[in-house]
Amino acid sequence: MGRGTLHPGNAWRPPLLAVAVLLASGAAATTSAWGQESAAVTSSTETASTSAEAVPAAAPGGGTVAPGNPQVSAVSCLSRCIGPATGIVRSRVRITGSELGNTVLVSFPGATGKRAKDRSPVVKPSGAVLTKVPAEATSGPIRVADSFGQFNDSAASFGVGTKAQLRAARLGFLFPVRGPHSFGGAEARFGAPRDGHTHQGQDVLAACGTILAVVHGGVVKANGFQAAAGNYVVIDGADVKQDYAYMHLQAPSPLVIGQAVTTGQKVGKVGTTGHSTGCHLHFELWVGAGWYTGGGPIDPLPLLQYWDSYS
Ligand SMILES: [Zn+2]
Repeated sequence: MGRGTLHPGNAWRPPLLAVAVLLASGAAATTSAWGQESAAVTSSTETASTSAEAVPAAAPGGGTVAPGNPQVSAVSCLSRCIGPATGIVRSRVRITGSELGNTVLVSFPGATGKRAKDRSPVVKPSGAVLTKVPAEATSGPIRVADSFGQFNDSAASFGVGTKAQLRAARLGFLFPVRGPHSFGGAEARFGAPRDGHTHQGQDVLAACGTILAVVHGGVVKANGFQAAAGNYVVIDGADVKQDYAYMHLQAPSPLVIGQAVTTGQKVGKVGTTGHSTGCHLHFELWVGAGWYTGGGPIDPLPLLQYWDSYS
């Protein structure tokens, strides 16, 4: 059976009134003083390890042989991020690919034409490389060089933006769970099998009572209780074709359907109401026409990880 217990056992259907009341909008916009609160947030991104020693692979007959050429398949921003692959100077960046275990140097295009170098990248046990965007770095492919003098450039560019761009990005979107959290195991993932259906969100494990925040300002589309979802809220993002559903809240949300909300405003608290065991947020991301109004859910994990990287 596994631990399929974090989520409604039956396919989740919205109450009919959720859509009907959507039209009864016009409530006043309220901003919350909560936005000023400094929540203790533990980032779930990788922490640097010290396993960076470049040890050549042992050859079958003794001695050493050079491994294959390093290959970079993806670069992603981990901290001070403007976008999934855009940061600023001193952003931490994860590089994934193959044959990266002997990486000793990572470089970026430089403002002066000379490459901007990080001479102490960290190789993770997973084989990924962590680097920090050096001063003087500009946008472009990231180059990885190993202890054998072999190197490879990323196919995709990494963007290096400005502090003003970072500030603007942070104002726009926020990670919903404002406290220590984790993304759980396979059963917490979007698409994980459930009895009779698949999981259409990502579970974020956190202590009951942890504050939940509006990911992106917009209008409250639904607020109610349902046997499987427990206390739930859906927010329609104002200028983006995204709806955000929050489920299993500890208590009914104080938000009112039709109310305009701003990024960071309090939605409620993590709970385990409805068909759920264990405190967690069940988070759904709907695109297109939206939540049960013609749109469809997509895997929210990449965006959750991105928001988590800076907020
Ligand atoms: Zn769930």
